[in-house]
Amino acid sequence: MKGIYVLIILVDKNIDVNVGALGKISFKKGLYAYVGSAQNNLEKRVKRHFKKHKRSFWHIDYLLLKTHVKIVKVFYKDAGKAEECRVAEELNRKGAPITGFGSSDCKCKSHLIRIKDYWFLKESMEEMNS
Ligand SMILES: [Zn+2]
Repeated sequence: MKGIYVLIILVDKNIDVNVGALGKISFKKGLYAYVGSAQNNLEKRVKRHFKKHKRSFWHIDYLLLKTHVKIVKVFYKDAGKAEECRVAEELNRKGAPITGFGSSDCKCKSHLIRIKDYWFLKESMEEMNS
């Protein structure tokens, strides 16, 4: 399977995270959505996000390696990179973007957005059972 995915991430207390080149970012307790794509082996990419022992490579790795941070839901869709950024931009409008996060390679404000809820994603994406 290939496509794009959205990780719904719960941060259960306020934390500061050193996110590589982005530096220290303060995350408020709450829900976040992270948009990514895997144009081959989507399942393997998503599984990697759940691993608590790995070297940090993407911005998202720095956040997900923290205690008090966990993935609570995954949505996916068979689509290309352009759709990844379209979904990210929609989320940027709906929530509070963490500027520059996950968007080093594109023009989006961010690919990680603090959101109030995520059920609206059900209208356009599939839920992944994990
Ligand atoms: Zn983008």
